[in-house]
Amino acid sequence: MNKIPKIGCLCEKPTSDYTEYRSSEIGIDHTNGRNAEVTIQQCKLCQRIWIHYFVESENISSSARWYKGIVSKKDRPNITPENAVEFLESLDWYVYGGDFFGGEAAFGEGKLNLD
Ligand SMILES: [Zn+2]
Repeated sequence: MNKIPKIGCLCEKPTSDYTEYRSSEIGIDHTNGRNAEVTIQQCKLCQRIWIHYFVESENISSSARWYKGIVSKKDRPNITPENAVEFLESLDWYVYGGDFFGGEAAFGEGKLNLD
């Protein structure tokens, strides 16, 4: 697996006003009834492409959480809503955040906390 360098771009520590990206939908992951929204976000500042995985339980307040990890142009066509979690968990590092984690974005690795 290739190491992904951290370059200090805003996309690695996104605040709620970070909007410097283009997004396109991949679809919904229905695994375990999660209905997670899977999108591609390309950062306008560094041009890197992220897989963004967002999940929220309607009945539970402050449950919104997201994970995103960098994907290469080569791997991007292989990402589906159903394998996005596996892809993120295979990375060296990803970024996560959302109300569930107190709103601050942070770096993580390994298993995603989803259910
Ligand atoms: Zn960036």
